[in-house]
Amino acid sequence: MASSIQRYRLLTQAAFFILFALAPVFDLFRIDLNLKHLIFFGMDWTLGVDDFVAGKAGVAQVTLNLLLRGMLPIALIVGGGVWVSWKYGRLYCGWLCPHFSVVETLNNLLRRATAKQSVWDRHRLPERNPDGSETKANPAYWPLVVGMSLAFAFVWAVVLLTYLLPPAEIYGNLWRGTLTRNQAVFITAATVAFFVEFLFARHLFCRFGCAIGLFQSLAWMGNRKALVIGFDRRRAEACASCDAACDNVCPMRLKPRAIKRHMFTCTQCNRCAEACSQVQIANSEGTLLKWVSNECALDKSARDFGHRVDIPGHCYRGKEN
Ligand code: SF4
Ligand code: SF4
Repeated sequence: MASSIQRYRLLTQAAFFILFALAPVFDLFRIDLNLKHLIFFGMDWTLGVDDFVAGKAGVAQVTLNLLLRGMLPIALIVGGGVWVSWKYGRLYCGWLCPHFSVVETLNNLLRRATAKQSVWDRHRLPERNPDGSETKANPAYWPLVVGMSLAFAFVWAVVLLTYLLPPAEIYGNLWRGTLTRNQAVFITAATVAFFVEFLFARHLFCRFGCAIGLFQSLAWMGNRKALVIGFDRRRAEACASCDAACDNVCPMRLKPRAIKRHMFTCTQCNRCAEACSQVQIANSEGTLLKWVSNECALDKSARDFGHRVDIPGHCYRGKEN
């Protein structure tokens, strides 16, 4: 059964996916290539450069527009994003990103079809889940894996196009079957590209191809006290009786007991820590993995540089995550 953290995460992911799909429809945010400017919360978000060129606005006005409508929003978004990532890591990826929710959905389906979360996994995952339930691989799930990959790819392609051209035009043309040649080419090419990516390289894109993910990871690595999944290595012998449940559940295919550098792309989904608390449910000392920060995070980050610092006694006390 999903924990309350995973239920919250599912809710935030679903809400953000809906926002991602509907933001252009409600003119919350889109770039209109016909109008050649942004639409932001129903407003035409222009810098007034056209008025300046036409002699209708002065240098002072256009400079103010550039600062208030250009640089300030960018600074606020980038600054806010860097601060959150510096302190909490890739929260955006694990809790909001509409790509990562596709990654997790398809990982779960593929596991049902093949006992692997990715076609590139070398070994099949055990049938037994950390909570004691079983998931047996059944190839009958393959059509669902392929069908859902295709459906997500098509949705992504159409939604992306509505960020560039008026949504009413795109959805209207789709409904009537009257897409222009360029619109049809865009949707077909993007659907094929996303389909291949979703099927074969979804978590690889998150790990190696996403600029938003990369910048969050870099900011996070710059803070040795940032929130991180810590491992109580003082009790590592407890892992001997476990089949690496934490590694098995990680949607990014990371090894959560590793040093921070090797968890560069961790999305703070907390699934590894919950798996550990489930397999160690009978352990009076509780889980070996949990979110830690400040002085408790130093053990994980200091080992990036070959240092071993003492883990303060309170860091892993208690069973809760
Ligand atoms: S950290 Fe927990 S889940 Fe991971 S191998 Fe050790 S006991 Fe198992
Ligand atoms: S290491 Fe843990 S928290 Fe990070 S992505 Fe993997 S399962 Fe999620």
